[in-house]
Amino acid sequence: MQLNFDNRFVNELPGDLTGVMQSRQTQGVCWSLAQPTQVAKPRLLAHSREVAELLDLSEEDIHSRAFLAAFSGNQLLPGMTPYAACYGGHQFGNWAGQLGDGRAIALGEAINGRGQRWELQLKGAGMTPYSRRADGRAVLRSSLREFLCSEAMHHLGIPTTRALSLVATGEPVLRDMLYDGNPAMEPGAIVCRVSRSFIRFGNFEILASYGQRDLLQRLIAFTIDRDFPEIDMQSGDRLAIWFRTVCEKTARLVVEWLRVGFVHGVMNTDNMSILGLTIDYGPYGWVDNFDPNWTPNTTDENWRRYALAKQPSIARWNLERLAVALETVAPSRAILDEGLAHFDESLQEYLSGMLTAKFGLQQIKVEDASLIEDAFELMQQANVDMTEFFRALADLKQQAPDLSLLKSAFYQEFLYRELEEKFNGWLKRYVARLSGQQDTDEARRRRMNAVNPRFVPRNYLAQQAIDAAMQDDFSMLDRLMEAARHPYDEDIPPELTAKRPDWAIDKPGCSMLSCSS
Ligand code: AMP
Ligand code: MG
Repeated sequence: MQLNFDNRFVNELPGDLTGVMQSRQTQGVCWSLAQPTQVAKPRLLAHSREVAELLDLSEEDIHSRAFLAAFSGNQLLPGMTPYAACYGGHQFGNWAGQLGDGRAIALGEAINGRGQRWELQLKGAGMTPYSRRADGRAVLRSSLREFLCSEAMHHLGIPTTRALSLVATGEPVLRDMLYDGNPAMEPGAIVCRVSRSFIRFGNFEILASYGQRDLLQRLIAFTIDRDFPEIDMQSGDRLAIWFRTVCEKTARLVVEWLRVGFVHGVMNTDNMSILGLTIDYGPYGWVDNFDPNWTPNTTDENWRRYALAKQPSIARWNLERLAVALETVAPSRAILDEGLAHFDESLQEYLSGMLTAKFGLQQIKVEDASLIEDAFELMQQANVDMTEFFRALADLKQQAPDLSLLKSAFYQEFLYRELEEKFNGWLKRYVARLSGQQDTDEARRRRMNAVNPRFVPRNYLAQQAIDAAMQDDFSMLDRLMEAARHPYDEDIPPELTAKRPDWAIDKPGCSMLSCSS
């Protein structure tokens, strides 16, 4: 097995080379050396063949001893320089100071045969100087969720960090899963995350908060040079162009989340990728019955700051925090305000494009806004399943529109009867709108099914994979990974596309999750 490393982050930015793992503030550096802590009995539980291909790793490589040793954190491969990044963050609306990679250890930037750069990072590989009072480890349930969802997001076409492998450590980890004073031992596991960049808004915020303007300038220049090849390094406006690009990528990301009903759950600025990737899969979730106010995160149950429909406004709030950090080195505040205004414009543009496509409309028309708004209003009143609703709507025949088509999306029969008239009224308007376009039912159906997934890794499905994995059975995970490879196809096994069953409503992990991981 051979990986070629070119570790620009550690080679070009200052780091703390002491190798001391004691938790502390690290001023004046972007990273600290951090060796993974060895584990007792590593075992490869799953891997992504697509990510293996990205890294030019063969199946033989994946199943080799060297692979297991490297991706459990037991033995570094030649060329790896393990480090933990220093970053801060605004958590739930408040500045939390220095955070950093408390349990993520980056191994290096691998260059594949096509010249692409992929940074590898172990999550759950032991303590770093940023572990604060925690143990640097991750439990199987949270690692499995991150592994599965990273790959599912990619195949859905949504920007995300990727996952190469899921490795059991063979060591127990103590966690209070429900935060109710009942800590218990759980199996530990490590995910190897793979991304073009792991830089977050918080990497810039921490330097601004320490008043390290020179280093902040350096990190910005580094980020543009390595991660934004589309931006001309020589341009005098490069900061403005860069911030504008970050704003646009972030707008696109949250609109993509809304398209598929994904709720990140912890949109703190330390969990916001500078490249607009989905990063840090914690208590995330997929909305089943449509509710804009739904969040999977029990820590956010009362406030619902990070609920489904709030994600765009939170993204903007986070960009405003990034702007405040950049203001300390920007030629003017105006260029940052322009970037934020560009976020607002991009958001509107992406949103209307996404909604138009979701409803099978060929063009955006101003008068569609009320048709679309009314649909979501009805979906909420009717408590229908979002994923099922859009797949069913795609089957509508213009000549014979039949409401019973949507019945499969309802969780409650009585709501179907109660809202029948309203839905029929809406369907009439929808059909009238469709009749105004040059289209066939089949063509519209195909377009709609290309943006409305048949399969998303619903929370209750992931939980079933976790329950089985705890019994050493990985067949459900394998089946979910397989379905996740072609989420828009028709031929997904029906048990993997079924609406959330009643037993899952209150079961931990199926609709609500704590941050415990
Ligand atoms: P999160 O809310 O998961 O994004 O984590 C916020 C911060 O806490 C990050 O700096 C993490 O690295 C750190 N953290 C979370 N869990 C652990 C853990 N088990 N050990 C060490 N640090 C952790
Ligand atoms: Mg995080």
